[in-house]
Amino acid sequence: MNAPATTAHLQPQTTPRPVPQAMLDALAARFGAQYSAAQAVCEQHGRDEGSLQAPPPAAVVFAESTQDVQDAVRLAAQYGVPVIPYGAGSSLEGHLLAVQGGISIDMGRMNRVLSVDADDLTVTVQPGITRKQLNEAIKDTGLFFPIDPGADASIGGMAATRASGTNAVRYGTMRENVLALEVV
Ligand SMILES: Cc1cc2nc3c(=O)[nH]c(=O)nc-3n(C[C@H](O)[C@H](O)[C@H](O)COP(=O)(O)OP(=O)(O)OC[C@H]3O[C@@H](n4cnc5c(N)ncnc54)[C@H](O)[C@@H]3O)c2cc1C
Repeated sequence: MNAPATTAHLQPQTTPRPVPQAMLDALAARFGAQYSAAQAVCEQHGRDEGSLQAPPPAAVVFAESTQDVQDAVRLAAQYGVPVIPYGAGSSLEGHLLAVQGGISIDMGRMNRVLSVDADDLTVTVQPGITRKQLNEAIKDTGLFFPIDPGADASIGGMAATRASGTNAVRYGTMRENVLALEVV
C-alpha cells in the first residue's frame, strides 16, 4: 500500500463548538488585562511543537493565582466550555489543540518557588515554572530537578504528560518525582 502524500489524515476531524459570547464577556470583565481574544495570542496557544493542527481556542486567560484558575474553570463549567491549560507549549502530540473549541489558561505567570526543604529533598512550586527556572532557583541548596525532556517545559505540563527524558533511567519520570498536587 502506498503511503499517503499528505498528513491530512492525521488532522483532528472534530468541529470546534463556538464559545458563547456571554462567557467571553464574563471572562473579559473578570480578567481585564489578563484576558486576550487577539487572533495571534489564540493561535500561539492553539498549537504545540508537533505537526497536528486545529482551529485555536477562542480566548486566553493568563492565570496569576489559584483563584484565577478557579474562576476561569467555574465560568467554563457554567457554559459547558472546554478548558486547555497551557504550560510552555513544548508537547508533541496535539495536547494543546482546541479540537472541541474552548479557552486556554496560560500558566506561565504562576512560576514561583513557594518553598524549599533541602533536608526533605522537596520543593513546592507553582505549575508554570519551567524546569530550567526551577533548577536556577534551587542551585545553591544542594538540590536539583533531574527530569530533562530536552525542551524547557513547565512543571505543570510535565506532570500532565508524565514527562521523562535523558535522566529517567537513574532518577525516574514525573511519576516518581511528584509527591503531591493541588488540582482545580
Ligand atoms: C525537542 C523536544 C524534545 C522532547 N523530548 C521529550 C522527552 O524526552 N520526554 C518527554 O516526556 N517529553 C519530551 N518532549 C515533550 C514535552 O517537552 C513534554 O510533553 C513536556 O512535558 C510538556 O510540558 P509543557 O510545559 O511544554 O506543556 P504543554 O505543551 O504546554 O502542555 C502539555 C499538556 O499538559 C497540559 N498542561 C499544561 N500545564 C498544565 C497544568 N498546570 N495543569 C494541568 N495540565 C497542564 C496541557 O493542557 C497539555 O495537555 C520533548 C519536546 C521537544 C520539543
